[in-house]
Amino acid sequence: MRIPIAIFALILFINCENATSEAEANANEPSSTQAKALYNIPYKKLYDSYDNYKESSIKTRRFKQTDIAPLIQRLKAPFKVSKAGASVEGRDIYRVSIGTGPTQVLLWSQMHGDESTATMALMDIFNFFSKNGDEFDEFRQKWQRELTITFIPMLNPDGADRFSRRNALGIDLNRDALRLQSPESQILKKVRDELNADWGFNLHDQSRYYSAGLNPKTATISVLAPAYNYEKEINEVRGNAMKMIGILNNIFQEYIPGQVGRYDDAHEPRAFGDNIQKWGTSTILIECGGQENDPEKQYIRKLNYVALLSAFDAIASKTYTQSDINAYEQIPFNGGSNFYDLIVREAEVQKDGKWYTFDMGFRREEVEYNGNRNYYYKASIAEFGDMSIFYAYDEINAKGYRAIPGKVYPSIVQNISALKQMNIANILAQGYTDVRLRELPKSKKVFPVNIIASNKSASNSIYIYGNPSFVLQKNGQTRYAVVNGFGYDLEEDKDLIKQLVNDF
Ligand SMILES: [Zn+2]
Repeated sequence: MRIPIAIFALILFINCENATSEAEANANEPSSTQAKALYNIPYKKLYDSYDNYKESSIKTRRFKQTDIAPLIQRLKAPFKVSKAGASVEGRDIYRVSIGTGPTQVLLWSQMHGDESTATMALMDIFNFFSKNGDEFDEFRQKWQRELTITFIPMLNPDGADRFSRRNALGIDLNRDALRLQSPESQILKKVRDELNADWGFNLHDQSRYYSAGLNPKTATISVLAPAYNYEKEINEVRGNAMKMIGILNNIFQEYIPGQVGRYDDAHEPRAFGDNIQKWGTSTILIECGGQENDPEKQYIRKLNYVALLSAFDAIASKTYTQSDINAYEQIPFNGGSNFYDLIVREAEVQKDGKWYTFDMGFRREEVEYNGNRNYYYKASIAEFGDMSIFYAYDEINAKGYRAIPGKVYPSIVQNISALKQMNIANILAQGYTDVRLRELPKSKKVFPVNIIASNKSASNSIYIYGNPSFVLQKNGQTRYAVVNGFGYDLEEDKDLIKQLVNDF
């Protein structure tokens, strides 16, 4: 399943250089000047000691207000905890603050209910401030002396409950900054105005299919200093946000080199980020995208933790003033939705008796169950044809291979235990991708063949937007199998297949 793409990626990167300005390419390579521009921020220590502060009760992206409320209610002085108000459906929205300093810093997360990565990081940050007697005492003291930090974690708890972007009214809160029809929007505006915040951190998630620039790397993090007018002017307020982002980018580059993108900076007059910038708060948008082997975004959560605490240091020490707007402007723009979960490249595909050479780009949708708390994958071919300009988390180089639609295993198997006893790699090698079971299992984990009911048949014909399972054969020999958007190399992935069978 983990297809090595390093060599392939390198070739593409070389090909891409003409399309990327030199400045953009350089922004993704840590240099000595960048190393210097980190102003003694303890980001390395924060990164290395993260596990001591990580909130262990939250392990996945799908959690609800009832999961974080006890973590907030238990916070003791010097934290100040209050209810900022309630959502449309009456869920409490909390306001947590720490510090007594003159500089007001405001952070809000999960304005979009299904964008929870930063909320997890805020819980970790609460743990960080709850401790003492460690290597960070002097930093905590400095930050609390210089800053008053106010958090609104999970601004949209109704959306979080459904794991949906919008709130219970069906409103996108990030288009409600002017009309303020939703109580959640009113809360954010009220807190911002009350504090007259100097700094604002607008914390979101973005598609995991975005690339950073035109590079074959995902935009694991995207950043933006939103524009406060259509002319995209830069005043001191926005300039400070840009300078801060320059520092944060240098930190991110140490851990995810080349995987930071700059969000589209077109002015959106209805959005909070743009307006809060306009209202005089230096506003920084951080978007969490995709990272290889991190479907639950736990590594990106850690990067958020490191970045936000680092930002507190740069603000408290005023070192952001030494940063440069150019460092921001050199970050490549998000390159668009250029990534797929799996690309099968240059397979021979038969249509009406004729063979064609096509690429197939699979994306895997999350199908929710258990009150949105869990999900399983349902894949589809999202792009079909020449995909030479696109990238993927997994690749199969199928040049010279024929894609043969998967067959249904001839005999019906009693149950999952019986199926687990069978040699699954062997079943795939024979061209079978679907197995009928008399008793369907409860687990919805990834399994290397499709498990179907005993009275079902499979339709694996290969077409755009379908979800065909198939094998890739050369001279009648099967080398690869694709099942529900996951690719398996039957020579290299034998252990992986065994692992998936055992873990099911
Ligand atoms: Zn968002």
